[in-house]
Amino acid sequence: RERRTSDVVVIGAGPAGLMAARTAKAQGLSVTVLEARRRVGGRTWNGLVEGTDGKDHFIEIGGQWISPDQTRLISLVEELGLPTFSRFRDGRNVYVDPRGERHVYDGLDFPVAEKTDREMDRLIAKIDELTAEIDAAAPWEHPRAAELDKISFRHWLEQQSDDPEAIDNVSIYIASGMLTKPSHTFSLLQALLMSASAGSFRNLVDEDFILDKRVEGGMQSVSLAMAAELGDDVVLGQPVRTLRWAEPDPSTADEKNGVAADVRNGVAHDGAAGDVVALTDDYEVHARYAVLAVPPNLYSRISFEPPMPREQQIAHQHISMGLVIKVHAVYETPFWREEGLSGTCFGGGRLVQEIYDNTNRGENPAGGAPGEEDPHGTLVGFVSDVYAEQMWALPEEERKAAILGAMAEYLGPRTLEPIAFFLSDMAAEEWTRGAYATSYDLGGLSRWGHLQNRPTGPIHYACSDIAAEGYQHVDGAIRMGEAAALAIAEREAT
Ligand code: FAD
Repeated sequence: RERRTSDVVVIGAGPAGLMAARTAKAQGLSVTVLEARRRVGGRTWNGLVEGTDGKDHFIEIGGQWISPDQTRLISLVEELGLPTFSRFRDGRNVYVDPRGERHVYDGLDFPVAEKTDREMDRLIAKIDELTAEIDAAAPWEHPRAAELDKISFRHWLEQQSDDPEAIDNVSIYIASGMLTKPSHTFSLLQALLMSASAGSFRNLVDEDFILDKRVEGGMQSVSLAMAAELGDDVVLGQPVRTLRWAEPDPSTADEKNGVAADVRNGVAHDGAAGDVVALTDDYEVHARYAVLAVPPNLYSRISFEPPMPREQQIAHQHISMGLVIKVHAVYETPFWREEGLSGTCFGGGRLVQEIYDNTNRGENPAGGAPGEEDPHGTLVGFVSDVYAEQMWALPEEERKAAILGAMAEYLGPRTLEPIAFFLSDMAAEEWTRGAYATSYDLGGLSRWGHLQNRPTGPIHYACSDIAAEGYQHVDGAIRMGEAAALAIAEREAT
């Protein structure tokens, strides 16, 4: 193995890891970033898909949208000199109701019966009342955290209302729309963390807020730009297999049973900065600190020597990825605009529950020109959780027909004939295993959330999935990467 020495070893070159490395360097610390994949960016990824016209078309396989509250990401994008543009939103939206009837409407409110409309407003107000009580940085500290964490979001909504259409339409914003898990599998507290991180539930409902801007040429450009600054400090294609992070204290070793008692008792939790060694197939990096910048569902892919303290080993097993298919369909032109439609479509409880106009703007690897809109129209749709499972179980052609058929319910028969079609499948990728992000199972957030950001000896954690502001979003990744590096710099200074 090639031996390297640096102050900090960063595991993972997604936005969190690269921001940690960038910040640590600015603090005068040397860094090595070890990335499993042969590219940087993690769950952000600029891609190309070949069309029936023989040309490549640009798509954003992973995360892409920025909302106005994501201020740390916005300032970084500006600093890196990356231009942004607004999502196309002119024209009327489409809603398909539970009976399959299509309605064209203006504004944010779904065209539902007056009673359902009132019920949705009431539910949203109630969620926002609770959201206002939640500190996104420590939801487990809410006086009723355990109580809010033991009821599923679905069950709670059903306790509040007997209108299934209102429940489906409210649930969509957190369940299929964000956590990408069925609403009966996560708690009310977990749902409140999501809305608190966005400022309010009303912000999640407002697609013009939450899906506001994109980076010209794709969100992965943020990571590519940071990696370019870091140069040889970033090493690709090197999954970290082992992380040595502490010497078990021989004075407390349980000789008889062969387990270091200090680790078993969790003493090592508060261990000092020390000789950390990260091992990959080809590298051995010696450092004083490590930043673990991978999603929590992947922590257990690394062998920790000594093992993580008991409570961490348990906690990590209760954090899992959601599942969603991001559907990309490229057309000769954005035909829906000819009919005065924005391309924004909703249908709670349907196979495809959300669609947006995702037409590209600016320079990109498919040949876009700076500041100019691509003449081809792109739609992006989402197939979440149980529907995603059903779709992956189908043969490819049937899957494509089912998904395009569901999109055509909103935008008509022309939707059935894209010139390029692609399904984002991060669940099949070894170094992600789901989408968009991870969350706790029922009861997990109140039991273990307090551990997620506490360093384990010299190991600091950084990922969007353990963020407060920007939770599960690129902004959260950037914030967490920066915070981890600043915490290390502070430890170094004292
Ligand atoms: P990641 O991006 O997952 O990066 C982690 C990195 O660690 C990866 O590069 C991985 O390869 C690497 N790694 C893992 N294990 C190891 C190991 N053992 N050794 C070395 N390296 C390892 N967010 C938004 O803000 N807006 C959106 O519109 C949006 N849409 C999304 C759509 C999709 C389809 C997906 C999948 C995500 C979306 N997100 C969105 C979420 C956003 O992409 C993530 O929040 C963000 O990428 C998380 O960054 P991260 O650095 O914390 O983790």
